[in-house]
Amino acid sequence: ATPTAVMVGTGQGARAGILVKNAEALELAEKIKVLVVDKTGTLTEGRPAVLDVRTAAGVSRDEMLLLAASLEQASHHPLAQAVVAATRAAGLEPVMPEGAQAVGGKGVSGRVSGRPVLVGSPDFLAEQGVPLPDDLLAPLLVAALTPVGVAVDGRALGALGVADPLRTTSKAAVARLQALGVRVVMLTGDHPAAAARIAGEAGISEFRAQVLPGEKAAAVEALRGEGLVGMVGDGINDAPALAAADVSFAIGAGSDVAIEAADLTLVRNDLNSVADAISLSRATLGKIR
Ligand code: ADP
Ligand code: MG
Repeated sequence: ATPTAVMVGTGQGARAGILVKNAEALELAEKIKVLVVDKTGTLTEGRPAVLDVRTAAGVSRDEMLLLAASLEQASHHPLAQAVVAATRAAGLEPVMPEGAQAVGGKGVSGRVSGRPVLVGSPDFLAEQGVPLPDDLLAPLLVAALTPVGVAVDGRALGALGVADPLRTTSKAAVARLQALGVRVVMLTGDHPAAAARIAGEAGISEFRAQVLPGEKAAAVEALRGEGLVGMVGDGINDAPALAAADVSFAIGAGSDVAIEAADLTLVRNDLNSVADAISLSRATLGKIR
């Protein structure tokens, strides 16, 4: 496109809530064949809530919540905030954990009141040698909740079932993108059952679940063989995947790291802005060549 067309496109983008850092990316947007969409915080609100609490026989619900929330204070993950909020709502005040280590895409390990505690995905607990019994896990999966397992002293205490609602704008935005001829693929570190529910609600038939943060960029890279790939994300973990895409979008409410990595920033936290960007790219830049 001519420099004038790019300037016009950038100005129209700004008015439409699309901040253009890389003008070439806005030019390319019209050619996006596959759009990779992060789940948490992009399709969903990014404000998960604990909807179910399952404890093993003889385990106190309050004790489990307190241990889990205390350790989760060391994590910035939205799930961690949900666990802390649910615990405070139960009238319990988390204590300071010791030696806490957050493992991206998995959970947190550390000590609470001197006892070793694990909080995270069923896979994470199993890898640490404390698998969650099926009778605790199964009801959460049937309900398509994200399971957050809790273990102390090498024993599984139970699991919390967490849900993060779809953004009200996501379903219509996905339909618009599909109508523009874009193949939408959801990428998430979440459990397949919870991933399938959100994909279904959003009208997305193609998704990859349990993708570790370090694997997201490779997943984007793999799709590049099938045409120009766009990626939308919000999290710190999304930065490498954003960098791997041909055209990258950061949700404005997301982390500074994601915004830094992306070509275009969506002020409105709304996937419709990606459809707007593609339409703008076609209308303004595609024609004036
Ligand atoms: P997403 O792709 O949805 O943004 P992440 O890669 O951040 O997800 O996390 C993937 C999974 O790792 C979560 O669904 C959860 O099971 C687990 N996990 C990561 N961090 C935490 C945490 N602080 N507490 C509990 N579970 C966690
Ligand atoms: Mg996210």
